[in-house]
Amino acid sequence: MKTWKKRTKAVHEGIRRSQYNEVSEAIFLTQGFVYDTAEDAEARFIKAGDDEFIYARYGNPTVAMFEDRIAALEGAEDGFATASGMAAVNGALTSMLRSGDHVVSARALFGSCLYILEEILTRYGVEVTLVDGTDLVAWKNAIRPDTKAVFFESISNPTLEVIDITAVSKLAHAVDATVIVDNVFATPVFSDAIAQGADVVVYSATKHIDGQGRALGGVILGTKEFIRGTVEPYMKHTGGSMSPFTAWMMLKGLETIDLRVRAQTATAQFLAEHLAADGALTQVIYPGLDTHPQHALTQAQMGAGGTVLAIDAGSQERAFKLLNALDIWTISNNLGDAKSIGTHPATTTHQRLSDETKAMLGITPGLIRLSVGLEDPDDLLNDLRGAIAAA
Ligand SMILES: *Cc1c(COP(=O)(O)O)cnc(C)c1O
Repeated sequence: MKTWKKRTKAVHEGIRRSQYNEVSEAIFLTQGFVYDTAEDAEARFIKAGDDEFIYARYGNPTVAMFEDRIAALEGAEDGFATASGMAAVNGALTSMLRSGDHVVSARALFGSCLYILEEILTRYGVEVTLVDGTDLVAWKNAIRPDTKAVFFESISNPTLEVIDITAVSKLAHAVDATVIVDNVFATPVFSDAIAQGADVVVYSATKHIDGQGRALGGVILGTKEFIRGTVEPYMKHTGGSMSPFTAWMMLKGLETIDLRVRAQTATAQFLAEHLAADGALTQVIYPGLDTHPQHALTQAQMGAGGTVLAIDAGSQERAFKLLNALDIWTISNNLGDAKSIGTHPATTTHQRLSDETKAMLGITPGLIRLSVGLEDPDDLLNDLRGAIAAA
């Protein structure tokens, strides 16, 4: 098993077959489990074995299949599946922190992640320092002997800054801080985050893992001790667990994730190169372009630029005209979907931020985030070129 490559793990890891020996993973749509005797029930509540279940909020066979499969893909000892990506981010942080603790986080974050750090953790007495995640000196200056955790998105949303997992982990580990990486944009396909130093990796499974825009989900990955000792007690008692039906969809999503993400990434690279060469946009941001400030780091850390690019149309008016002129691309706010999606972060996903913060993060009025789907690359390029001309 240990020698399997990711594509094999994505199809076979974690499978638990019932007495019928079904090929496709079964959906165990049950909240509870029957005990033969009262003594058995008591014994299971004292200590459940590896494949013994009590209540679906604690665990479920279909959910366990998903947890084992994604943990194997990521090279993590264990995982806990959650109801959404935000339940994963919140669970990873809140389960390990207490009043008086100090956290250092990159400032360029998904809006809801920033809300947890700035509004929720601080309300419970956790001190949070935000830094420019690409600036290693800023990390070094902010991390203190009493820092408990560092948090960052390995590629930031939506400006696609790439953060050096190995270097930040080294600084954090010098003070025994736990490194928690939100790895959505890297995807499990290009991630080697745990080998590079991350202690905990979180995914919104809503994005590339489902990959077809059907369901919310998430997962927290780490050592067995962290997942079962710290995360599980918090999650199982606070109610953010994944449903068995969602776990089944995510299992099926994992079977094709490598093919989908590689195809979407090849198209993203193709589009970024052509749009940059056309010269009709103020800016084309893509970690796979050699003009990207962290291009070399991207190649070393992931080996590819991922499925998302960002373009700057110059103004909000032009950005809206461009989005409205698109035919194949849909205006929405998911990413990692089979369908190509254009998003205007300044007025949607990052609307809550002040103009000053938006400017600091590079979320300009003309910025459009493009999540590349599975359509024909030429069709996508022609659609974009037509819309750029119309704008
Ligand atoms: C979407 C996203 C989340 C939140 O995931 P949900 O499944 O929507 O809760 C967290 N972090 C990043 C980087 C995301 O893109």
